[in-house]
Amino acid sequence: MFSHPDQAGFLPSAELSSLVAKLLSLGYQCLGPAEEGGAIVMRELAAPDALPRGLQAEQAPGHYRLTRDSDNRFFAWANGPQAIKPLAFAPQESLWRVERDAAGALQFAAVLPAVSPQAIIGVRACDLAALAVQEAHFLRDGRRDAHYAQRREQLFLVAVQCAVPASTCFCASTGDGPTPTAGFDIALAELADGFVAVAGSEKGAAVLAALALSPATPLQLAAARQQAQDAATRQTRSLPSPNLRDALMGQLEHPRWDDVAARCLACGNCSAVCPTCFCHAEQDLPSLDGHASEHVRVWDSCFGESHGYLHGFSVRPDIRSRYRQWLTHKLATWHDQFGRSGCVGCGRCIAWCPVGIDLTEEVAALVRHSDQPSDESSKRSTKPAGGQVAAYPARGRGGQGHAQTD
Ligand code: SF4
Ligand code: SF4
Repeated sequence: MFSHPDQAGFLPSAELSSLVAKLLSLGYQCLGPAEEGGAIVMRELAAPDALPRGLQAEQAPGHYRLTRDSDNRFFAWANGPQAIKPLAFAPQESLWRVERDAAGALQFAAVLPAVSPQAIIGVRACDLAALAVQEAHFLRDGRRDAHYAQRREQLFLVAVQCAVPASTCFCASTGDGPTPTAGFDIALAELADGFVAVAGSEKGAAVLAALALSPATPLQLAAARQQAQDAATRQTRSLPSPNLRDALMGQLEHPRWDDVAARCLACGNCSAVCPTCFCHAEQDLPSLDGHASEHVRVWDSCFGESHGYLHGFSVRPDIRSRYRQWLTHKLATWHDQFGRSGCVGCGRCIAWCPVGIDLTEEVAALVRHSDQPSDESSKRSTKPAGGQVAAYPARGRGGQGHAQTD
């Protein structure tokens, strides 16, 4: 009933728990925001009414502190260090296992994750965009990463429009937020007394239909649209263009790379929190008795020297070349691989960098005197121009880009 954009419903704040209860009754494990270690992370909800209210986080370069939202809303926080990434692309998992049988022969077997259905409540537009970017890598051109696919297929995504961006957010300039436009099952826009709710998939429509919501009024829809516009306007950071390919690739010898290398610790935090980074390493973990071994995939970072190690030498021996690799892959050569930038403007790499390196500032320094994006490079971009705010409500699943990769 609510699967079309014109059919938005209204869910009073006091009945948000009924949405969680419905998802639990359908067999989903429900994850929602929780305070842990001084940050907002996604954790299993102990009960339908366990979603916390009033959580907020102040973010700046190298800075993340929990605060309280004076309006006591459910979703007045921008994002935490995690995205959806760990739930689809596991930080560490076995790919296959080998065992020696009684006759001494080696027996190989795939190890696939046992995943149960999970509903994530509070997914942001930037993270939906990042999920589509990851899918372009893991599920593309007929190829299917079985481990990624198995986890992804079990996810039910309840997205939330961002009303309170952090100072590190710049999704409006990448065209990825603050309103969810694709990839969700249900999308919510939180108003003072409840939520405008739309479905983006048949599964989402069935859940909303079961809640028997009253239709959202024109005033409520207008308030949701205005809220998105205000959130975009409040973003203070930006990238100069969604497509910086030519501008950055023309600056490979710019002295700014030495400047940022002197500050960067090569810790890899930025790539760990980035929702689109997909680099990994593979390791073999033999048992102590030598009869079995697990082949494991673990997240890796291009900031580590070992990631660029090839037969006796490293192709990126210094921090300058590693930072340059990260930034130019993310914002420039990603266009060649995936048809869009690898940055969705979530700002995590800025907040979680221990020395406060801000990629928007680095880009501004690098391209300040360089060419503006050419007509041709602008055509390569699949994203709308900076600052665009999608109309609310918008349709969900679909529109996920698939392109070539490395
Ligand atoms: S940019 Fe910051 S987070 Fe990334 S590797 Fe360097 S110091 Fe670490
Ligand atoms: S590069 Fe930074 S701002 Fe862009 S998606 Fe990754 S973590 Fe977010």
